[in-house]
Amino acid sequence: MASALTDRLSRLVKTMRGQARITESNVQDMLREVRMALLEADVALPVVRDFIARVKEKALGQEVVGSLNPGQALVGIVNKELAATMGEGVADINLAAQPPAVILMAGLQGAGKTTTTAKLAKHLIERRRKKVLTVSADVYRPAAIEQLKTVTKQAGAEWFPSAPNQQPRDIALAALDHARRHYFDVLLVDTAGRLAIDEALMAEIRDLHATLKPVETLFVVDAMQGQDAINTARAFKEALPLTGIVLTKLDGDSRGGAALSVRQVTGAPIKFAGVSEKIDGLEVFDAERHAGRVLGMGDIVALVEEVQKGVDLDAAQKLAAKVKSGDGFDLNDFLAQISQMKKMGGLSGLMDKLPAQIAAKAGQADMDRAERDVRRMEGIINSMTPLERRKPELIKASRKRRIAAGAGVQVHEVNKLLNQFEQMQGMMKKMKGGGLMKMMKRMGG
Ligand code: GDP
Repeated sequence: MASALTDRLSRLVKTMRGQARITESNVQDMLREVRMALLEADVALPVVRDFIARVKEKALGQEVVGSLNPGQALVGIVNKELAATMGEGVADINLAAQPPAVILMAGLQGAGKTTTTAKLAKHLIERRRKKVLTVSADVYRPAAIEQLKTVTKQAGAEWFPSAPNQQPRDIALAALDHARRHYFDVLLVDTAGRLAIDEALMAEIRDLHATLKPVETLFVVDAMQGQDAINTARAFKEALPLTGIVLTKLDGDSRGGAALSVRQVTGAPIKFAGVSEKIDGLEVFDAERHAGRVLGMGDIVALVEEVQKGVDLDAAQKLAAKVKSGDGFDLNDFLAQISQMKKMGGLSGLMDKLPAQIAAKAGQADMDRAERDVRRMEGIINSMTPLERRKPELIKASRKRRIAAGAGVQVHEVNKLLNQFEQMQGMMKKMKGGGLMKMMKRMGG
């Protein structure tokens, strides 16, 4: 299914050509595809509608950069907007409270609350060096209390006992008291699951919230829940002031569109993602990476990003083809290559991509000199006529003098450039393809 979609997309993208602006008509088909992609990723319909409207508003009239077509440009905008909608920066857990900082876990039964409680305990112990206590306020399923005990042990945290004959509020108060007296930094409170939204259980968790005054109230939601996630999220948002979301089971097949729905409905940041059943299967949520998964158009997004970085792909490809065939490499290509290098962040930019030892050896003074050389080379080639650039062998003494005067350099510098060009031409013939980057690096070094 996903591949059929990708095929449709690439066909569409190919049919759109060289328009300079995004308009309603030139991206209409592409917008439809984006909408389908989001629905296939299980983003709830009203959320998709809102999102598409927002993207449209942002995109219409925007200029299309470089060799992109409007469809590709639109996908780039969609991807950015997706990431922005799902998160802004890293939203780590908030522990700014008089210890113990209380974290209340909420969500449907089976969402992964108990598992996540233990994962979070491990995270707080290992990453934040905290002393962590867990407790279960699930008095309906004795097995749930036992499960928390087991996974808490695996996490290396401490577990506070509770029993089915107690009131959830009494459990909470006893655990809080214990945590205070034994100097725990964090108290994680697992709560009773519910299969569906249930008023009595909602009242219970509201009461727990009022009793504990948690610094974090995390809504745990199963990414596989798909379209339903929006209703669950709405109910929990109405019952509790949620401070964060944990999206579980992202290791499954789901494209994770629930993230978008849940984020939009609750307004709370997605703080963590569950990526396995194991105790270490918890990751800090990465909105950008997740946007790629939801949209499922990685190829186009990667292309857009390359072009926006300023690399002219068409030119690079033409050049690569010439290198491959090993002939016809002239001063125009030489010039194109120099300016390409400048676009890729200049020589110092290229140096960043080289191993540190080599870069260090080159030193800043060398780099500055090399950049000056490149600018001079550009100046020289720019003073040549188109014919001279295509047929450098025509450049004899009188032409050299004219070119040197035009570029404001000495004749020997024109000679030097012609020598460099010949060397490179020879190298090209030897390499015959695949070595473009290598060669650029050699020029930079
Ligand atoms: P609770 O009822 O909300 O406490 O849910 P549990 O913590 O008992 O989890 C329900 C099931 O989902 C268990 O089988 C967990 O192992 C599983 N689970 C929880 N989180 C994840 C996850 O991120 N990935 C996968 N694959 N399974 C998970």
